[in-house]
Amino acid sequence: MQEMNCTCEKKHHCAPIDAILIEDGAIDKLPSLLEQYHRIFVVADQNTWRVAGERVAALLFASGQLSHSFVFPGEVLPNAEAIGQVVIHAGPFAYDAVVDSFAPCPLPDFILGVGSGVINDVCRLSSFRLRLPYGICATAPSMDGYASAGSPMLFDGTKATIKATTPRYIIADLNVVSEAPMAMCTAGVGDMLGKYTGILDWEMARDVTGEYWCGQIAQQVIEATDRVVALSEGLKSRSHDAVHSILEGFIVTGLGMAYAGCSRPASGSEHTIGHFWELEYVAAGRKPNFHGDEVAEGTLLVSSIYRRLYNETDDAHLKALIAPYLPKFDGVERCIAQLGICLPVQDRDLIYRGILAGEALRDRYGVLKYLKAQGQLEEYAAWAADQLLANWFSK
Ligand SMILES: [Zn+2]
Ligand SMILES: [Zn+2]
Repeated sequence: MQEMNCTCEKKHHCAPIDAILIEDGAIDKLPSLLEQYHRIFVVADQNTWRVAGERVAALLFASGQLSHSFVFPGEVLPNAEAIGQVVIHAGPFAYDAVVDSFAPCPLPDFILGVGSGVINDVCRLSSFRLRLPYGICATAPSMDGYASAGSPMLFDGTKATIKATTPRYIIADLNVVSEAPMAMCTAGVGDMLGKYTGILDWEMARDVTGEYWCGQIAQQVIEATDRVVALSEGLKSRSHDAVHSILEGFIVTGLGMAYAGCSRPASGSEHTIGHFWELEYVAAGRKPNFHGDEVAEGTLLVSSIYRRLYNETDDAHLKALIAPYLPKFDGVERCIAQLGICLPVQDRDLIYRGILAGEALRDRYGVLKYLKAQGQLEEYAAWAADQLLANWFSK
């Protein structure tokens, strides 16, 4: 159990995570870390099986704790098919079922996902529905959802987060994670950059709609993001410190979400814009972009909107709210340029519609809803799309 006493109205936060291990050689500690489990079901895809899953399964087999493994045969999407695959492969195909009763089929006692975003989300939801505890062995510092309690899933023609549970264990072996494809590592930085605008949206919601706010969690997330920005150059040489800072940032935000009971610590308008693009890509049958890259691009848009609002507004309180973030927005731009973080959406119409959808997709207050109420959203959106194209894609 992770716990924190707090100054917010909740006074005390907790999340049912037994252990978080981010270090060199963490995988070797899996058998002892999971010693209370004896029928562990390992889930991976072909890539993650190759980089870590096979070794994880071998270690658990040697210690007598492995039930069996399932390796997704192709690309995995966070959808019903993937959930079905895990549920189907969780138990044996032939056993002496008692036909007229729900006598339990011999299921594993633990699901261990080996992978990053999709594997984690699919294992989380499957585990929750099967009532089996689960853990995640990370293979890439690519997205912030490791510690969160919800799984963003594609279903019914949309993408929505289904509440489930946090993993009991989060293991990241820096020797493995630091070797992830560079595009996944930079996407991870992109996902962290979105925390600035996400937290600032949360501050606006606190002041305008009286939404629940936890200053301690927000501060932890901001500090973790600052560390990622400060160390991000080291990512080019795959420095373990840089990778550690990204993973730690994910854990801080993931725990923040579990503590706060909402996704405010991790995401704001920049994420909703990214989710819209993802839906558009999926609907068009195109390969989805990395979540973190879309978030980085969404962050550029939302931070430029905040910047302009800061310059134009007569509202002294709003100005004071935005001011401390301005240097952080400079850091975001530097970081994206230095690391060459991919900005995947270059179509002006899609960018523009993303900003409008960022307001409409969710019933959650932030800068876009503020502009909508002022009757300025369309104008700001068009301006921000043009700015992005001029500053980032015309060179
Ligand atoms: Zn709190
Ligand atoms: Zn994210």
